Amino acid sequence: MKLVVQVRLWPTPEQAAVLEAVLEATLRACNDAANFASVTAFTTGDRREYALRKHAYREVRARGLGAQAAQHVIKKVADAYTTLKANIRAGNLGSEGSARRRRAESKPIAFRAGAAQPFDDRCLSWQIDAGTVSIWTTAGRLKNVAFVGSPEQLRTLALYRKGESDLVCRDGMWFLYATCEIPDVPVTKPNGFVGVDLGIANIATTSDGARHCGKGLNAVRHRNRELRRRLQAKATTSAKRLLKKRRRKEARFAADTNHRIAKRIVTEAERTGRGIALEDLGGIRDRVRLRKPQRVTLHSWSFHQLGSFIAYKAARHGVAVIHVDPAYTSQTCSACGHVDKANRPSQATFSCTSCGFAEHADVNAARNIASRGVAGWAVSHAADDAA
Ligand SMILES: [Zn+2]
Repeated sequence: MKLVVQVRLWPTPEQAAVLEAVLEATLRACNDAANFASVTAFTTGDRREYALRKHAYREVRARGLGAQAAQHVIKKVADAYTTLKANIRAGNLGSEGSARRRRAESKPIAFRAGAAQPFDDRCLSWQIDAGTVSIWTTAGRLKNVAFVGSPEQLRTLALYRKGESDLVCRDGMWFLYATCEIPDVPVTKPNGFVGVDLGIANIATTSDGARHCGKGLNAVRHRNRELRRRLQAKATTSAKRLLKKRRRKEARFAADTNHRIAKRIVTEAERTGRGIALEDLGGIRDRVRLRKPQRVTLHSWSFHQLGSFIAYKAARHGVAVIHVDPAYTSQTCSACGHVDKANRPSQATFSCTSCGFAEHADVNAARNIASRGVAGWAVSHAADDAA
């Protein structure tokens, strides 16, 4: 399994000024070159790495990039076109002829001056024991640049770092995103499933009755929405910058919340020898569409993130994960199976009109997801048991 570990560069006060200027100039040079290569790819129609290299390599080198950096710039551009193509095919930019899709297809992909740049081991070498890196720049090599990370991140780096690292500048801080290849842990045969229901008031509710409301996250979102409304009316450059900063901060806060929730759910499943049943999120947009569109995109993005955090933490601990169809989980009685809209008299309560079973609505839904997980697992692993 691939995992990205993110560490922050921590230059000495003497290094800081030079480092910042040099790294900034390096990213700018790489992205200028990437924009050149992108225009070339767009006009020639040769968007694959090898073909694009023939057209663009010499000019990219002439912009002061070394051989390695030049190849990485060209690969970055080719990869960006591959991703765009995949996104279009998956319908992520709307249907054919939609304004968004036309906009994306009608011009070359553009790279910001500070867009992330991949470095291989020759351009960026890690001295993990010493906690430093040495990094190629357009102004020569910078050596002994310290980086910081959590003990777990450093351990993962020391054991599993392999391949490229991305240099990223975010809010005036410099980060390295290092790719790590974690060996697969065999999946333990689950003894039952923890069902997880995703929602707006409670971000995640488990079939055991644990409700993760993501304390403060909805409050932060609400505050930011108000601020956005006020600032958008202004539409000045500084208002836009502030908005962007707030949005990033909110995204970090949401990611942090999702990490914590995922960790607790996976730990509980592992401790009790169970697997985890998650809703298949394909339909989540439809399910939450009742609400304001902006909120829908925000939440569906956040749900997918939580789902992927759970999946990768589970994989690291050998905990089974199954995705189930969430249709009618909120209207179905988890005690007797009776399906009725009237079972759900309010947002928070579930009360079965047939057998009288009552439970918090989200817990009832999570219990349905858990039993669908058990059934789904039995079907998909029937062959293993027979063998
Ligand atoms: Zn019932």
